[in-house]
Amino acid sequence: MTRLVLLGPPGAGKGTQAKLLSERLGVPAISTGDIFRANVADKTELGRTVEEYLNAGKYVPDSVTNAMVRERLAQPDAVDGFILDGYPRTTDQVRELDDMLAAAGAKLEHVLEITADVDELVRRLTRRALEQGRSDDTEAVIRTRQEVYAEQTAPLVKVYAERGLLRSVDGLGEISEVTARLVAALGLPNG
Ligand code: ADP
Repeated sequence: MTRLVLLGPPGAGKGTQAKLLSERLGVPAISTGDIFRANVADKTELGRTVEEYLNAGKYVPDSVTNAMVRERLAQPDAVDGFILDGYPRTTDQVRELDDMLAAAGAKLEHVLEITADVDELVRRLTRRALEQGRSDDTEAVIRTRQEVYAEQTAPLVKVYAERGLLRSVDGLGEISEVTARLVAALGLPNG
């Protein structure tokens, strides 16, 4: 029954931790980036719409992203809880999520921010570029994504802090160490 949002800059490890927390909490991890990439790979209409934004490291327009998430959260597996990885990313998306949850009579319980300094983020993303060949992991696009995050998404930390929902967790260290910090921030027993 957990409804959780993961915040943090590109490369902080949201995707990795979302999957691990999903197993632990028994709710689906929903990654807007993964959904967009799958649509690009499958050459769907949505994929054709979003491809240029992804490749440039720019955000997909809110109208497109919001409609996609609205549809995803209405699926039966997300009704009792979810981990959102990569959404919301703008204040407009925050409002839209509030709206979706209110309509469902549901509430966001936790917002976890994973932090890491820019040098570490760029190092991780450059390494991932070599390993996975993601088209948005080139140096110039990585820099754009960090800038877009700082401008559009970093302000969300304050929004959720003011609601008393935010916990910040250090994203440096072993994957399992970071998971343990997140689990502790949720107030759950370790292991
Ligand atoms: P990262 O956090 O490493 O940049 P993601 O996989 O979360 O990677 O997102 C990849 C891309 O997908 C983003 O650069 C953006 O183009 C698009 N995207 C994902 N989520 C959103 C969102 N909530 N709003 C707008 N665009 C998004």
